[in-house]
Amino acid sequence: MLPLVRTNHQKLEDYRELISGDLFEEIARLAKGLKGLRVFQVNATPRGGGVAELLRSLVPLMKGIGIRAEWYTIPPREDFFKITKEIHNALQGKEYVIPFWQRVRYLEHIERSANLMRDMKPDVWIIHDPQPAGVILYLPHFHPAICRIHIDLTLPNPEAWKFFSGIFGMYDKIILSSKRFIKKEIRRKTMVFPPAIDPLAHKNQPLNLDFSKEILKSYGVNPLRPLVSQVSRFDPWKGFLELIEAYQMLKKKVPDLQLALVGFFLAKDDPEAMKVYSLVKEKAEKDPDIFLFFDPEMLGSLEIHSFVNAIQVASEVIVQNSTREGFGLSLTEAMWKGKAVVGGPAEGIRLQIQNNKNGFLSSGPQELSKRIIQLIKNPQLAEKLGKAARQTVRRDFLVPRVLRDYLKIFKELA
Ligand code: UDP
Repeated sequence: MLPLVRTNHQKLEDYRELISGDLFEEIARLAKGLKGLRVFQVNATPRGGGVAELLRSLVPLMKGIGIRAEWYTIPPREDFFKITKEIHNALQGKEYVIPFWQRVRYLEHIERSANLMRDMKPDVWIIHDPQPAGVILYLPHFHPAICRIHIDLTLPNPEAWKFFSGIFGMYDKIILSSKRFIKKEIRRKTMVFPPAIDPLAHKNQPLNLDFSKEILKSYGVNPLRPLVSQVSRFDPWKGFLELIEAYQMLKKKVPDLQLALVGFFLAKDDPEAMKVYSLVKEKAEKDPDIFLFFDPEMLGSLEIHSFVNAIQVASEVIVQNSTREGFGLSLTEAMWKGKAVVGGPAEGIRLQIQNNKNGFLSSGPQELSKRIIQLIKNPQLAEKLGKAARQTVRRDFLVPRVLRDYLKIFKELA
């Protein structure tokens, strides 16, 4: 059997005040016919990154409505994750030829993982992202199975796409976050719905502004000076270097500005973080007003989710400067907190921000710095956009909606 990730139960009732009555009723109705259904979800890592974040709330909620849901991961392996990170980057458009030996290594570990799945017999499988997707090659009776691809497929590297579209195409259904990610090879089986955040998660609990500033003060951030932040894995697609460039331009106009970049090293499947962090550190040029958070040890006894909550609440502006992003839950979390957000050009960001309505979109350091200063100088505008952002999340991006979308598919498949 694959390694199990332990999860609790979460009652749908607990979300009643947060979602529309219609959605609540629809879920309750769909759930009636699906009680006892065994649904196993598999991804690459139990922590770090958006997929783990989503499963941590979705699986308990499935259990709460009577589905026998479980969450498993494929066994971690360093060389495998190095290869799958390259594959992930290639599918997001990086120039890359997957060498033959890497395909072999990928398939070897996938076969090993598939062997651990042979005796597992759910009614529906949900496999998240390319890391585990290949198991279907080794499991002839692996149906019904859904492949949930969270990455940005706007412009995949053609070679990587050729290899993986064959694998994705073996699934009964494929779920993407945007219709812009649909490709002709998988169109027939594709459905589109974005992921969502859990308003009941510790990280998303209401936090007093002064208290959150007090927390940050103990890590050196001055509570009386403006703060801009980005919470993201140190990853080449997250636009960190351009964000620092924008900050450096801004610093001339707002000398007391502070920038916090939060990317704790957590995800086992992300061996690239250290490299990107080094580039970011170099670019930050030992500026005492740029705070880099990467080592969980830095926090002492404070939990990461409490720190992330505090940073998001205490920031005047939150940036998610991604150039590629399947969706971007960090941004959703900031919007849920009613924050003024500025997002990069990636499709996942555009799924959430409507320019000038619930935040700003920017296409480069110049525009980014212009938008940040506009929000810092005009708190009323920041508040107005932040309020609209929270409404967007309430309407479209809370986890019960994702549950509803899955229940509809289960009904069709089961
Ligand atoms: N996150 C975190 N600590 C960090 C960086 C990120 O807890 O130092 C969380 C963040 O709050 C969000 C998730 O990791 O819940 C990132 O998801 P997203 O979809 O934004 O990006 P991904 O990592 O999946 O590319």
